[in-house]
Amino acid sequence: MRIGVPKETKVHEYRVGLVPAGVRELVHHGHTVYVESGAGAGIGLNDGEYQAAGGEIVADADAVFANAEMIVKVKEPQPAEVARLRPDHLLFTYLHLAAEPALTQGLRDSGCTAIAYETVTDAHGRLPLLAPMSEVAGRMAVQVGAHCLEKERGGSGILLGGVPGVLPANVVVLGGGVAGMNAARMAMGMQAKVFVVDKNIDRLNELDIAFGRELDTLYSTVDHIEKAVANADLVIGCVLLPGATAPKLVSREMVRAMRPGSVMVDVAIDQGGCFETSRPTTHAEPTYVDEGVVHYCVTNMPGAVARTSTFALTNATMRFVLALADKGYRQALHDDPHLMAGLNVADGKVTNRPVAESLDARY
Ligand code: NAD
Repeated sequence: MRIGVPKETKVHEYRVGLVPAGVRELVHHGHTVYVESGAGAGIGLNDGEYQAAGGEIVADADAVFANAEMIVKVKEPQPAEVARLRPDHLLFTYLHLAAEPALTQGLRDSGCTAIAYETVTDAHGRLPLLAPMSEVAGRMAVQVGAHCLEKERGGSGILLGGVPGVLPANVVVLGGGVAGMNAARMAMGMQAKVFVVDKNIDRLNELDIAFGRELDTLYSTVDHIEKAVANADLVIGCVLLPGATAPKLVSREMVRAMRPGSVMVDVAIDQGGCFETSRPTTHAEPTYVDEGVVHYCVTNMPGAVARTSTFALTNATMRFVLALADKGYRQALHDDPHLMAGLNVADGKVTNRPVAESLDARY
């Protein structure tokens, strides 16, 4: 198959759809990969590395789209990219169509076949192509939280791990899923005192078995959250209700009761946020202070660590890219119901029921 990797054009997007090792794998399987010049430059992957892996460097996005049958990207196509899509194109990328009627219409009109990373499933009902970004965001939440606790950032001046003779910070993680577990792991690694709150008892059991006495688990009730948050130096929000906006677990009153200079990192902000005081921020201006508490609410945290995020994402997408290229998309979708769950647009129609229902589109 002929596969194309354009340079991402969304503002501040430095990730790329394939790394050189992925290109090498595809070439090894007999495929041809066209990479736009400079596609990986933002994260230190230069054209020479792609060439050494067997990729063909082409001058611009027009050449990528003209040559390729399958386009592998990271972010949803921007208008100029939608305009280049043809009925014989297969698009494999994050799409998040439920909230994007104009983009959905553009994809339908193009006649292309579009598979969205975020709706591909696995045998456990999880979303394996979203998980790597939750891992990144969870781990990063502790890094930014620790930074925000410093005086210069408006924080209370507390070192997460303390020092011998001085108590460490209290870190409360709301939601012990992929992001939450990764946040807890990092906070424990920095020797903070860590609490994880979840409403899923089975999940709390798994965390308890995994981390033992180093981690305290709490069942999610208003009472537990109120007490834990009041005593926290850093609260990290990682809850998710699949397909719905995040529940507001921390009220304004609870925030008001926190010590001044404490920090809240709302990872769930991309689903509306789980603190009443949260509002979306950007990497350009990531924090603000409300009720005396520093809030970090960046909606695309992995973008800040685009190199790690690219490798994490492409590790997860690679086997699907290979299946699509080796078998052709029809056979690959036929063979794998989890990949089929990723199909969002085909033959001018929206083919994923929840996405279609959100858009109120017709099948
Ligand atoms: P997940 O499904 O693995 O985990 C969510 C957890 O929340 C589950 O364990 C669930 O039981 C728990 N939960 C749900 N309701 C709860 C409640 N009322 N009280 C306590 N726990 C509750 O999800 P994930 O992959 O870890 O993602 C977490 C959030 O991070 C999502 O909103 C996701 O969109 C977001 N995210 C944000 C960024 C970013 O850049 N800001 C990046 C990646 C992921």
